[in-house]
Amino acid sequence: MNIWVCEFCDYIYDEAKGVPKEGIPAGTCWEDVPFNWNCPYCAAKKFAFKLIEQNQNRVNAVSMSILNP
Ligand SMILES: [Zn+2]
Repeated sequence: MNIWVCEFCDYIYDEAKGVPKEGIPAGTCWEDVPFNWNCPYCAAKKFAFKLIEQNQNRVNAVSMSILNP
């Protein structure tokens, strides 16, 4: 799952958590967030969000293999 950040107010959208109170269930991929959804804090449009984290599961798997070889 990816994490996206609003470039105007630094609001974080975590795909794993979604925004349930905004009607976006946990686990909603960014592509599946409605295109007319706005940042809850500053009302920026989706295009204002930048990808800041990717392949988190793979990173966790790598770090676990280091801890438990
Ligand atoms: Zn924002």
